Amino acid sequence: MKRLITYVCMVIFALWVGAKNAQEFTVQTQESVVQPLDTIEYRVFVAVDKAAVEHWGGREAYQTKLNAFFDQMNDYWNKAGVGRFKYYFRYIPDFQVVYDCSSRQLENIYRKSAGFPNHDVLLIIDSLLDFDDEEGAKGWYCGGGADNLSMVVCRSRSKTEHEDLFGIDYFHRGLAHEFGHYRGVTDLYADRIQAKKNPVNHLEYEPDSCVMNSHYKTYTWSSYAVNIINHTAKSKRPGLDFSGLFKQMFPKNIQVSVKVKGKNKKGVKLNLYGSRAQFNDLIATPYRTYETDKKGGYLITDVPNLYDNPAKPLNVDELPYNRWFTFLLEAEYKGEKKYVWLPEYEVQQSFFENKDTYQVIIDL
Ligand SMILES: [Zn+2]
Repeated sequence: MKRLITYVCMVIFALWVGAKNAQEFTVQTQESVVQPLDTIEYRVFVAVDKAAVEHWGGREAYQTKLNAFFDQMNDYWNKAGVGRFKYYFRYIPDFQVVYDCSSRQLENIYRKSAGFPNHDVLLIIDSLLDFDDEEGAKGWYCGGGADNLSMVVCRSRSKTEHEDLFGIDYFHRGLAHEFGHYRGVTDLYADRIQAKKNPVNHLEYEPDSCVMNSHYKTYTWSSYAVNIINHTAKSKRPGLDFSGLFKQMFPKNIQVSVKVKGKNKKGVKLNLYGSRAQFNDLIATPYRTYETDKKGGYLITDVPNLYDNPAKPLNVDELPYNRWFTFLLEAEYKGEKKYVWLPEYEVQQSFFENKDTYQVIIDL
């Protein structure tokens, strides 16, 4: 009996020690998770049209609204990283200029101006199309200026109704989208293909959910955008410090491997069809055609130049941005066909995996 009591006591002691260790372990784990991220700040030079400042109650009132808007935008930006950002990012608005001229004129002046040593990105807000030349460039966009400085323009689409940063819920997400361009991310919606404009397999291609795809109801960055934003994080002017990044992100090669009924197959025809931004269509004539070798493979080389600034013939009159956006790869053997989407942002992920070849495996 005494022995049994001793034994029970030992078990209880062991359990107590185990529980204590487990508790300590939990605390340690929590500490390592909770560790705060370093903050990276980008200073935004802000110029606002006089009409907007007056509409919102003068300069001081405008400044207050602007600060609150940026708080909202920063919060959204970071939360949309869903724990994948290596830093906490903060855009700081510096309300510098109230202008009373055409925002096109101002934009042209800023575009040519070198300098802005205390700022990282420019933001022009134009709440009304009140000058004749503004109508030709309505809407929001991100462009480049002198010294690779990025300039975001938020221009109204109306002559009478104020379209400002404030008042509409998705506007702070829209500004995050434009700043996403500043950080080096392209529009994912440009890779979209409409089913009715796809004469090859008649399917729609919808790119990954991302702030850079649609910001209206999206609350997350794609892994592609997260990778780029982390990669360029420490640079205040990614256009300068990471010039040519877009093309560098493409792998050198795409290795296609085809199996028919489980066996490597020679003589499988591979057709590569290109899609266009803006049109969101797929061109019916293959841009390239290949055939698998006796190992059932084909190595597509010079991939950066296949997508960006592709060699002619393109079999189409107009190619927006001089780029193919999504390729549709068709594998055909004895009338059997299989398809693989190759959107640029997907293939470019190789860069973040340190791979120079993107692998495609097809089972027919
Ligand atoms: Zn965009």
